[in-house]
Amino acid sequence: MPLTRTPTKTVTSIDDVLSLAQDLIDADQQDLMTSAAGNTVACRARCTVCCHQAVPVGPAELRSIRDAIAEMEEPTRNAVERRIEGAAAELRSLGFTRTSLSDVASTQREDVAQSYFANRVMCPLLEDGVCSVRDARPMACREYLVSSDPSKCSSLEDPTVVRIRLRRDVLDNYTKFEAGHGDNGSLILALALADQIPASLPVADQSQTGIFRQLTAM
Ligand code: SF4
Repeated sequence: MPLTRTPTKTVTSIDDVLSLAQDLIDADQQDLMTSAAGNTVACRARCTVCCHQAVPVGPAELRSIRDAIAEMEEPTRNAVERRIEGAAAELRSLGFTRTSLSDVASTQREDVAQSYFANRVMCPLLEDGVCSVRDARPMACREYLVSSDPSKCSSLEDPTVVRIRLRRDVLDNYTKFEAGHGDNGSLILALALADQIPASLPVADQSQTGIFRQLTAM
């Protein structure tokens, strides 16, 4: 499947890796939707059920989303920023204060996710039922697809929800890569800190470029 953008040959920043991972996951999705593999994607525009989940994001994703918000025209930008503040305040009042998910033990993450979802705090980036930062949306949002009835997604525990798994393990590889550059955050609360992320995050060592090679080899 051809990529929508040419992969970056020289990796100088984590933005290069983010761009590549986004291309790979989008191309894989497109492939799944058009192939005869029997994967009928049931997700539809303006179905926003999964936009009430806790969405993990890394530093490069956060900055990319922040940039997308900064480029919005008024009054949309102001409305989005006000919704972010409102959603963050609502989460804090409900007892969710973590901007980072990195210190949540893996055994407890499901409980945190369930409890978060139960409160139905809508992602403030939704605009009239559509993601307002679609091109910059987090990897976790990009890869979330189901083939089951979308109404089933209102329960994280419904065993009849059928997730469509992308054949490339891009999300896992990318998450590991981002973890080398800072905490993975929970989207709404972490957005408030996005301005503190440096303008350029260099790819610092071989283990990180190793992930890049792994991604490019997929
Ligand atoms: S970033 Fe976009 S796709 Fe992801 S939860 Fe928010 S509105 Fe939904």
